[in-house]
Amino acid sequence: METKQFKAESKRLLDLMINSIYTHREIFLRELISNSSDAIDKIYYKALTDDSITFNKEDYYIKIIPNKEERILEIRDTGIGMTKEELEENLGVIAKSGSLNFKKEEKIEDGHDIIGQFGVGFYSAFLVADTVTVISKALESDTAYKWESKGKEGYTIEPCSKDSVGTTIILKIKEKSEEEDYDKYLDEITLKSIIKKYSDFIRYPIKMNMKNRKLKEGSKDEYEEFIEEKVVNSRVPIWKKNKNELKEEDYINFYHDKHYGFDNPVKYIHTSVDGAVCYNAILYIPENVPFDFYTKEYEKGLELYSNGVMIMNKCKELLPDYFSFVKGIVDSEDLSLNISREVLQHDRQLRLIAKNIKNKVKNELKTLIKKDREKYEIFYKAFGRQLKYGIYENYGQEKETLQDLIMFYSSKEKKLVTLDEYVSRMREDQKYIYYASGESVDRIEKLPQTEMVLDKGYEILYFTEDVDEFAIKMLMKYKEKEFKSVSSGDLGIEDDKSKEESKEEIEANKELFEEMKNILKDKVKEVKASKILKKHPVCLTNEGEISIEMEKVLKQMPNNNGVKADKVLEINTDHEVFKALKNACENDKEKLSLYTNLLYNQALLVEGLSIEDPVEFTNDICKIMK
Ligand code: ADP
Ligand code: MG
Repeated sequence: METKQFKAESKRLLDLMINSIYTHREIFLRELISNSSDAIDKIYYKALTDDSITFNKEDYYIKIIPNKEERILEIRDTGIGMTKEELEENLGVIAKSGSLNFKKEEKIEDGHDIIGQFGVGFYSAFLVADTVTVISKALESDTAYKWESKGKEGYTIEPCSKDSVGTTIILKIKEKSEEEDYDKYLDEITLKSIIKKYSDFIRYPIKMNMKNRKLKEGSKDEYEEFIEEKVVNSRVPIWKKNKNELKEEDYINFYHDKHYGFDNPVKYIHTSVDGAVCYNAILYIPENVPFDFYTKEYEKGLELYSNGVMIMNKCKELLPDYFSFVKGIVDSEDLSLNISREVLQHDRQLRLIAKNIKNKVKNELKTLIKKDREKYEIFYKAFGRQLKYGIYENYGQEKETLQDLIMFYSSKEKKLVTLDEYVSRMREDQKYIYYASGESVDRIEKLPQTEMVLDKGYEILYFTEDVDEFAIKMLMKYKEKEFKSVSSGDLGIEDDKSKEESKEEIEANKELFEEMKNILKDKVKEVKASKILKKHPVCLTNEGEISIEMEKVLKQMPNNNGVKADKVLEINTDHEVFKALKNACENDKEKLSLYTNLLYNQALLVEGLSIEDPVEFTNDICKIMK
């Protein structure tokens, strides 16, 4: 018998594919099962449209038969089968898709789709087999044919006998080697788990003979083994079920079945979209931060299915980084399955789905803020940080998406509030959205800089995380209102008349402040009379873009180039201490130097900054105690 060569580029492609396209060999089974499912789809479609074909649902199934002794794995289906010409056409040429042709000829309505539009799927059989044999009998054909190939060398076709319509793929499984234990593809348990993993939701039953045990007749503790035909796949995917058929419990079970997390999700989202792109999706927002969430090992992504067949475990293209906590699955009939199903990055449909999902998650979170504040806060405490990073990332490209989802602790409400809530409560004379940064709510509450703003009755947002101020700098404004740190020089507050310094006063204090500045040198940019202090003697404020809080964060980073905030030392001229300063300035310069350094260090401590020379600081304190 003549061995025919694979057409044209096929040889090279075959090589390429076997060695590189598919990273996991086990997917051969998914490919062959999905072909079988397609073939049954086709006969199903014919039966639906042709009265001469009787269609009995039970007659349509896929059967997997491993034989360890002979190292043979069979995949049988009762699908439409292939004629001699079809065997040549479909299996003789790589990258030629029979499914695609069928689609054109029959003008299949949308929604009755057949997966696999540009397949080399069949060839994945060579990932695990030395020899692949296909025995097929086509619908309305008398003869069956046997196609056989050992891979690159080519293939043979000859007539053979087969009783019923359908296709049997016979794989001669490769010998166990160092790089792969091929034996496992003959093991029922492994096969079952591969089917469960990738093909659980194939619409037709996938059957397998499984070993089972039962009590021996008449015995109470003696068991005997027997073989039982079992349907391995569960067939109806939960995401294709009608929402009102499903209970919350079903969604939570699925979450656990899928090992998305040990917690219960804060929210599940089930959507069916029928538009420019069609898909079903079930998405979850977890309650707890996964243990590896902030490590490099954590992989974001959703499971991706094409019409019930899993094509990707974690499709990261479906989620932006700031929603990396979202778990779930997406199933679409619209994905064009190019050469490898593992290379979908540039797919237009996929990008559309990703965009929809992003908006869906955003809107659901927004609704949650209104409808179930408690749950939103649980979520926000776990993943809020991620949202704030999202604002900061990519030059603020996504700030519009995220600005309504972030929350900060409020001085007024004593709990987390949204920016929208803050702005809607702003007083008429209030120009800015005020915030104060610090390590914790407790520490911020004690910051001298907050005194004046709070006295005025304005609300302050407390920033306690590293990322907060960076995110806000990126946001710049919310609903036309600018953000303002209480530590910044100009607070935009109408000056208190009592605090207004008269010309004489300014003149009188000028010398003192200049001398203090000289003592502190580069440590501060200026020393001045404070307009914001009420009870505290001193504080630090800053000029320019870099705040003191940001300096702290930047200091922890490598290559920070010693970035520093421009600090201003503000002195409360109504405070007792001020008199002492004045006095020292006139009578005792050494004392002035001592006081100035002490005050500066105090201000640093209050800010949560470290003092450059703690020994000197304690010595200074001892000096004034003498
Ligand atoms: P794809 O499935 O993407 O079209 P494949 O390489 O997986 O590509 O399969 C090539 C073609 O071979 C299919 O389109 C189909 O026409 C045919 N084929 C493969 N397996 C079967 C089968 N079990 N029954 C009928 N036809 C099949
Ligand atoms: Mg295929």
